[in-house]
Amino acid sequence: MRHIVSGYPEAQNLNSVWSVKMHISLSMRKKIYPNNLVITCRTCEVDLITLLATLFESKNMTADYTTADYTLAKLKMRQALPLDLKIKFSQSRIREWYNANGGEVYVSFSGGKDSTVLLDLVRSIYPHVPAVFVDTGLEYPEIRNFVKTFENVIWLKPKMPFNKVLEKYGYPVLSKKIAMGISRYRNTKSEVQKELRLNGGINPSSNKKQHRSIPLKYHYLVDAPFKISEQCCDVMKKRPFKQYFKDSGKLPYIGVMAGDSKNRQQSYVQRGCNAFEGNAQSRPMMFWQEDDIWEYIKTKDLPYSKIYDMGEKRTGCMFCMFGCQFEKGENRFQRMARTHPAQYKYCMDKLGLRKVLKHLKINVDPVELQTTLFSGC
Ligand code: SF4
Repeated sequence: MRHIVSGYPEAQNLNSVWSVKMHISLSMRKKIYPNNLVITCRTCEVDLITLLATLFESKNMTADYTTADYTLAKLKMRQALPLDLKIKFSQSRIREWYNANGGEVYVSFSGGKDSTVLLDLVRSIYPHVPAVFVDTGLEYPEIRNFVKTFENVIWLKPKMPFNKVLEKYGYPVLSKKIAMGISRYRNTKSEVQKELRLNGGINPSSNKKQHRSIPLKYHYLVDAPFKISEQCCDVMKKRPFKQYFKDSGKLPYIGVMAGDSKNRQQSYVQRGCNAFEGNAQSRPMMFWQEDDIWEYIKTKDLPYSKIYDMGEKRTGCMFCMFGCQFEKGENRFQRMARTHPAQYKYCMDKLGLRKVLKHLKINVDPVELQTTLFSGC
């Protein structure tokens, strides 16, 4: 059928959906493809974006999308697509994962906005798919209460509580990579390995260049008077999910996005959305952006945890120290002192976070206290 494009001045008289697709791809590469673009046919008024998405889902076009097609350039193109089209693509990934695993799937649900959107996307196609939530005991009360409003959610618990993880392995500070570097430095007797952790160099066992895993400015932490480790996530989150897989055989949908970090971006390029090999998981929203999440929530009038309206941008574990060295202004712990004083007191005094954060030169005094002291000077 011949479609004539309107609402898109660069593409006049394109005579097939295929040529429209080619034209849009080219335009996106040249960055002249605007968001919220509506392309309709002037004669039959069909929505060509939707038509295009439907075609992508057909066998031939899906192949175009899935095979060795995960480059940074393609990621940028997909990130620039309008939300309608992203939804279609995500639904296509969701179906592919479901079919490939005979329906033995679940949604990894944290109660945060990304996995809330993911759950809605999955259940709009397969309403019976369970959500799985790991109750680490470290979630904001607002998140736990929000999770309780959903049906068919399986609650998992880690075998070890957070205070025991801190005691046995150590505190999760700065980042996974740095905490691991410090922990390995302390636990090896090899002077060569210690040197590699601190300053990098050629690793004699692999004969390959190894970059330092502890940045210069954090070298002082190898002598810190408390344990440091990256093990926490493994014990508190990964192991319960692994056990769930062993017991149920179900594989996850995960609501992560390539734009979240360089690592995720790299993972998209290496493994795409549906990663069948190794750590098998589906990430059907990899090419979404933060704005898409909010747009989806707004458009569908989806409920979300009220923790976001209290000023939190991240909703993971309340007491996690990963990344808090980058926070400007009132940091997460100072905010916690204001919004969740009981939890603040518990983590600072009972779990020992005050001494750890002080050692890292991160201010945890409530902002009000600082203002009072300053005014009194
Ligand atoms: S996010 Fe932080 S506190 Fe939560 S499990 Fe991982 S390391 Fe532990």
